[in-house]
Amino acid sequence: MAPRPHWLFGDQLGPHFLDPRHGGPDDKAPVIMIEARSVLRRRRFHRAKAHLVLSAMRHRAAELGDRVTYVRAETYAEGLEKVRGRRASSPLTVCHPTSRRALAFVSGLDGVEVLPAKGFLVSHDDFAEWAGRNKGKGSGRSQSPSLRLEGFYHWVRERHDLLMDGDDPAGGRWNLDHDNREPPPRGQDTLDVRGPWRPSEDDIDDEVRRDLDRWERDGDVSFVGRDGPRRFPATRREARSALRHFVAHRLAGFGRHEDAMLAADPVLSHSLLSVPLNLGLLDPAECVEPAEEAYRSGDAPLNSVEGFVRQIAGWREYVWHLYWHFGEDYRHRNALRHTTPLPDWFLDLDADAVTANCLSTVLAQVRDTGWTHHIPRLMVLGSRALQDGWDPAAVTDWFHRCFVDGYDWVMLPNVVGMSQYADGGMMTTKPYTSGGAYINKMSDFCAPCAYRPDHRTGEEACPYTAGYWFFLHRHRTRLAANHRTARAVKGLDRLKDLRELLDTTAQRGDAPP
Ligand code: FAD
Ligand code: SF4
Repeated sequence: MAPRPHWLFGDQLGPHFLDPRHGGPDDKAPVIMIEARSVLRRRRFHRAKAHLVLSAMRHRAAELGDRVTYVRAETYAEGLEKVRGRRASSPLTVCHPTSRRALAFVSGLDGVEVLPAKGFLVSHDDFAEWAGRNKGKGSGRSQSPSLRLEGFYHWVRERHDLLMDGDDPAGGRWNLDHDNREPPPRGQDTLDVRGPWRPSEDDIDDEVRRDLDRWERDGDVSFVGRDGPRRFPATRREARSALRHFVAHRLAGFGRHEDAMLAADPVLSHSLLSVPLNLGLLDPAECVEPAEEAYRSGDAPLNSVEGFVRQIAGWREYVWHLYWHFGEDYRHRNALRHTTPLPDWFLDLDADAVTANCLSTVLAQVRDTGWTHHIPRLMVLGSRALQDGWDPAAVTDWFHRCFVDGYDWVMLPNVVGMSQYADGGMMTTKPYTSGGAYINKMSDFCAPCAYRPDHRTGEEACPYTAGYWFFLHRHRTRLAANHRTARAVKGLDRLKDLRELLDTTAQRGDAPP
């Protein structure tokens, strides 16, 4: 029997998605890829992201040569119609897509078999088993205390024998986060570490850029941000080079300054591997294995390797499974009842309109590259949104559109749960936000800033410090009942200038801080 054709989505580009083993597609199955213009028309994406995804898809099609039918269409439905013609229910396979919307679409098609998800260490069934076993355990302080990251991460390490010495974690500790929260080195504006791997563009990138220019000129699509030069891998070969470069030259320094921020060195020792991982160009197992080898051979210290393994085998897997576990309603959660629309300067990535140096610097990084590391995402961008009470669904949409590694599955838990606390504590035990003191300690942003991190009121009041107290005041009752924030709320009563602080913060409205 002829093998059934297999449909590859644009984030299923590595060889493991065509591997017939472990529930994969038929051996030597012909491949279908669909470039659907409506995806770009629906929302205003960062142009670098549109470039990256189209470039990666077209590169994959070029590699697959005659094996692939590459269709340009308005929608996926139209693309499928073009391929299947009059045999509208001819058999087809597809790996479990990464978004609920795409899963619903493929599940509703005649003749399509949805194969198990690939690109993650933990299967849906295994996660369900773990979550089932942990149901009902925990302290009862929030809706799902048993599903915290830490327990999940230990279980993944044990199950996959990752960084284990027999039954114990390597080095005797599961968690070395404590060693990984150092501020940036004093007096340095960059880390002493070899720069990240960067690609060279080719003819396919030129073609993509010409197409994007034309579509924009024709008024077909509209983008935010700047495009170019391409900064992230778009092929398997490039992704492998980026991984090898990171493990050989940058992994050793990954841990120490993981949470630090430097204006002139936005990447620090981060891996930049979220893009090839989320495009499906790399499998997580092939990222954590060489990292562990580097530890075993003495080439990288445990705090760095554990920190990196925690990100990939812990956080990334956890976020993926929470996306499916929390259900469709999760995207509409708004426990804090925040409804303010995002201001135009933020929507347009207008960094130059912003005075606050931390926010202006980070917004410029997003505008120019579509990327910034997790602390600027959480403690500068997300914290601004949380303190100003922006609508969490709109914040999620913004992150999804503006980040080169943003996809529905990864955005929902990270933004709705982690960053905006809109789920009321299903994912984290407290909201993540801080005053200027934290940003001052962890970055070099404050010294040249027009505001002072320790000023709550007056001309030089730091919007993060004032915003922090404003946030605590606004949600005083809820936060006083949470043991992790109760003490901070008590601090409100000691502020003699609270009234003035609340008035000036409210007066700022949606003007750029
Ligand atoms: P590194 O610091 O080198 O970490 C290694 C890898 O760990 C990353 O490549 C990524 O694959 C994985 N990882 C670490 N944390 C997470 C996490 N919380 N969720 C998923 N994967 C994780 N990550 C995305 O991949 N896409 C997103 O759209 C995204 N949006 C985010 C939004 C907010 C508000 C926050 C707080 C975090 C978000 N993250 C997202 C997680 C994290 O910020 C990025 O994965 C990371 O900054 C990517 O850079 P890197 O590859 O250099 O990461
Ligand atoms: Fe940001 Fe406040 Fe520091 Fe300025 S003083 S950089 S606004 S934290």
